Amino acid sequence: MKYIAYCRKSTDEKDKQVLSIEQQLAELKEFANREHLEIVEFITEARTAKVPGREQFAQLLKRIEKGEAQGIVSWHPDRLARNSVDGGRIIYLLDIGKLVDLKFPQFWFESTPQGKFMLNIAFGQSKYYVDNLSENVTRGMRYKINNGIWPVKAPIGYKNDSSTRTIQIDSEKSKIIKKVFHVFAEGNEHSSSSNKSFTDISLLLHKLGISASKNKPLKPDQVKRILSNRFYIGIMKYVGEYHQGIHKLFISKELFDRVQKKIKLAERPTRKGSHNFAFNKLMKCGECGASITGEVHNKYYKTTKRAASYTYYRCTKKLKPCSQKPIPAQHLELQLRKAVDDVALPQKWANDWYKWLERDEMEEQSKSEENLHKLKLNLDILDKKLNILLDSYLEQVIDANTYKMKKNEFFEEKLNLTGEIEKIKADGSSWLEPFKNFIGSALSCAKIARAKNTCSDLAIGAKTVGSNFFLTNRQLSLNYNQGFASLAARRLCQPRG
Ligand SMILES: [Zn+2]
Repeated sequence: MKYIAYCRKSTDEKDKQVLSIEQQLAELKEFANREHLEIVEFITEARTAKVPGREQFAQLLKRIEKGEAQGIVSWHPDRLARNSVDGGRIIYLLDIGKLVDLKFPQFWFESTPQGKFMLNIAFGQSKYYVDNLSENVTRGMRYKINNGIWPVKAPIGYKNDSSTRTIQIDSEKSKIIKKVFHVFAEGNEHSSSSNKSFTDISLLLHKLGISASKNKPLKPDQVKRILSNRFYIGIMKYVGEYHQGIHKLFISKELFDRVQKKIKLAERPTRKGSHNFAFNKLMKCGECGASITGEVHNKYYKTTKRAASYTYYRCTKKLKPCSQKPIPAQHLELQLRKAVDDVALPQKWANDWYKWLERDEMEEQSKSEENLHKLKLNLDILDKKLNILLDSYLEQVIDANTYKMKKNEFFEEKLNLTGEIEKIKADGSSWLEPFKNFIGSALSCAKIARAKNTCSDLAIGAKTVGSNFFLTNRQLSLNYNQGFASLAARRLCQPRG
C-alpha cells in the first residue's frame, strides 16, 4: 500500500506541543521506517486548518481520489483537519474505499466504525475534546488488555486483525521468527564458536525479509528485544503490569527459555586483546588460593638472533606470598585434555545407557501423571489467590502499587508452574532430560579432548565435567561433577573402550 505523508504547522499556532514541520517530517520518516510504510510523497503546508481552503491539503485529497496512494500518514489527526468539512471529506474517502488506512504516531486508528467515530471527533472538535478522546482510547486499550488482547501494534509474527479486533498469527512472518529462535538456540553449548550473535540473526532476518527498512537490517538491540519478548509465550507487559494474553502461540516455553539462556551467554563480556587466555578464571593456586592467569613472555636469543614468545600460566599471588612457579600453557593444556578425556563416554556405553533410559521413561510416564495432577492443583490455588488479590484491590483493602507488585509475583509463579506442566507433558519427567544431556556431554568429551586448537572449547568442556580446579606444583587437580565422577572411577578399572 502507498502512503502520502502530510505535515502542517501554521504560523498562528502558538502551541509548543506541536512539533515544527521539520520535526514532524523527521518523526514521520522514522515512524514509516519502523512500520515499513511505503511513502510516495511528503507534503508540507504552513496554513491553519481551522477553516477549510488549504491548497496542499486539497492536492492530497485529489491524489487519493485518483488512486495514487491509498493511505495517509500524519503526526496526529489534528494536523489533517480541524474543521468538520475537511474531516468529513477524509471520512468520506474512507467510506468509499479510496482511502484504506490512516497512520499517526500520536494516535491509534483502526478502520472500524468505532475508529472512524473517534477520528471524526478528533477532526472536528476543540483540543479539549481531543484530549478527552485520548483518554477514551486509553480506556479502550484497558478494556482490551484486561481481556487478554494486545491493544497496540502486534509484534513481528503477529498481526492486528481489524475485522475481529484481535491479534492473529501472521502465517508467513511467524515461521521466520520461529526459525530464528531455533537458530539462535541451537548454538552448541559445548562450543563457543557456533553460537550466533544478534548481528548474525539480524542478517538472517534481513535475508528472510524482516528488516528495519528496505536495505537496512535490524540493529542488534532490536534483535535482542525480539528474542526476549515474552509476548511470544503469551505474557503481555503493558504499562508496567503483566497480563495473560489470549493470542495463540507459535514459540514453546521450552524454546523461549533456551533462547534466554543464550542471550545471557551472548551478553557475557569478552576480553579483547592479542592473546586469548582460554584458561583464565578456571583455576586457583593450590598453595595460596589466588587465581591462575595467563601471561606472555617474549624472549630473544642473542646467539641465534631469534625472537620467540611463550605463553605461561601463573599464580597471581594477590592474597599472600607464594612459592609456586609458572607452568607453560602447553603443559597445562595437556593436563586439561587428559582430565576431560578421562570422563569421555565410549559410544558403546552410550548406546546401552540410551536403552536403559527408554525403559525408565516408560516407568516415569505413570509417575508423571501423578505429578501433573499435583501441579494442576497448585495452579488452581494460585488462580484463587489471584482472584482474592483482585477483590481486595477492588475493595480498596490494598493500594494499586501493592496490587501490581503482588500480581506480578503470582504471575511469575504461575509462569513457572505452567512451564513445568508443559515440560512434563512434553517429555514425561524432569530428570530424564538432564540425564540425556549428561550422556550427550560425556559423549562429546572425547571429541573436545582430542580436537586441536580449540582451547576455549576445552575450557568450557572442563567446566562441564568438573569444578574446584587447583594447580599445585604444576599439577592440575579437580573434582568431577556428579555423573562424571563415576565415569572417572570406571575409567580407572576398565581399559579404554
Ligand atoms: Zn599461589
